[in-house]
Amino acid sequence: MIDALPDAGVPADQILAELRALRAADLPTHGGKLFAYVYDPGRDGLDELAHAAYAISAHVNGLDPTAFPSLLAMENALVGAAARLLGGDAATVGTVTSGGTESLLLAVKAARDAHPEIARPRLVIPSTAHAAFAKAAHYLRVELDVVPVRELRADPVAMAAAIGPDTVLVAASAPSYAHGVLDPVADVAAVAAERGVRCHVDACFGGWVLPYLRRLGADLPAFDLSVPGVTSISVDLHKYAYAPKGVSVLLHASPELRMPQYFAHADWPGYTMINPGVSSTRSGGPIAAALATLRHLGEHGYLALAQTTRDAVGTLAAAVRDTDGVRLYAPPETTVICLATDGVDLFVLADELAARGWHTQPQMAYRDMPETLHLTVTAAVGATAGEFAPALAEAVHAARRRGPVELPDDLRGAAASLTPTAVTPELIATLAGQLGLAEGATGPMAAVNSLLNIAPPPLREALLAGFLSLLQRPAEPAGQPV
Ligand SMILES: *Cc1c(COP(=O)(O)O)cnc(C)c1O
Repeated sequence: MIDALPDAGVPADQILAELRALRAADLPTHGGKLFAYVYDPGRDGLDELAHAAYAISAHVNGLDPTAFPSLLAMENALVGAAARLLGGDAATVGTVTSGGTESLLLAVKAARDAHPEIARPRLVIPSTAHAAFAKAAHYLRVELDVVPVRELRADPVAMAAAIGPDTVLVAASAPSYAHGVLDPVADVAAVAAERGVRCHVDACFGGWVLPYLRRLGADLPAFDLSVPGVTSISVDLHKYAYAPKGVSVLLHASPELRMPQYFAHADWPGYTMINPGVSSTRSGGPIAAALATLRHLGEHGYLALAQTTRDAVGTLAAAVRDTDGVRLYAPPETTVICLATDGVDLFVLADELAARGWHTQPQMAYRDMPETLHLTVTAAVGATAGEFAPALAEAVHAARRRGPVELPDDLRGAAASLTPTAVTPELIATLAGQLGLAEGATGPMAAVNSLLNIAPPPLREALLAGFLSLLQRPAEPAGQPV
């Protein structure tokens, strides 16, 4: 247990040693075998540069760009680079945010607040759009119209039919996170424009790699601000720009489109607050680190990283095609491998891959889609891709030998019959015990995933919130003797 507030302060060396020891329990952020959460270019020296840049600006506050012009200059540089990469023109403006979720939240807020006359604003998204849109809709009290996809891609005809007088925004993904496929952005933007509705392209995932893949000859359609009808686009620099966490860019096609994104408040006794984003106080650290990363890699660096990534995707896709028991669920057209299994328990397979050092991301069954494994492929995978085929073959073999997860009947029954409101802290504690979910357990997850997989989404949400609440407890509960 860590005492965050000891009586006597602890020497710096010891603290850093403790932090390194803690980190040892984490999944490996580098090395090309973790296929979610982290984006690793596999370039020596880049971390050191980013960390040094971060340190220079860590205490700078983005609250007031007139007090800290360094940050304004860095943000304008990042926005300019993003606009150039993503089809912007002289009218394009943007905001640096803390991540994709904030970028989407702000795109939805700007669209909503552009129409104060609409009492119940609505947002039209394809069913494969990122969950952050649902979060934005929830936070901002915007109604969500979820339109089923066709062969994993947004269906412009169905989306057009979903646009009504209260629709303030239509969205498409480039590409979708779950499957890594591009929506037909031009068609979606056209139906939005025809109705005078804003269209946001969520390129949070792929925005910094798709332009380079296209330059390398990948057959991918235009998806950016150059497409008529696209009014805003988001790109996460902490994904394929390979910057440390905490930086995304939201671009708007014009200053007028961005204006309702701002929040200003003068009606209190303190300073007049004017914020483009969710946070008011913001560290300059992530922004300086992102700028350093972009400037160090440069266009040539990103092009080379995209080539390495594209080759790795090809190698992994071939491994999936050549292995009995697994198949590609989505076309590997960008930087995602999404696979399904035939006659092999997918969650057991995920555990068997993890046991061999390959960490993939299970995705639960959704509507008519089966459970799948997601692999975000980054440039670091170039060094490991060749070892994937034998590991996959072994893992499939081991998963076959182990057979599918057999959930106890009472758990199976609970997943089928429980309502979210029946999920009490006591129930969660019992389930956590039954599933072997000790505090912070990182072992085999097949049983947990199988349970979640058969639970309807609202129950999944309640169960996960319950499990997380169980993990998030004070290290030293107040009122207890230390
Ligand atoms: C990652 C991602 C987001 C959310 O971004 P965060 O940085 O995790 O907040 C949104 N959309 C897509 C397509 C993403 O891949």
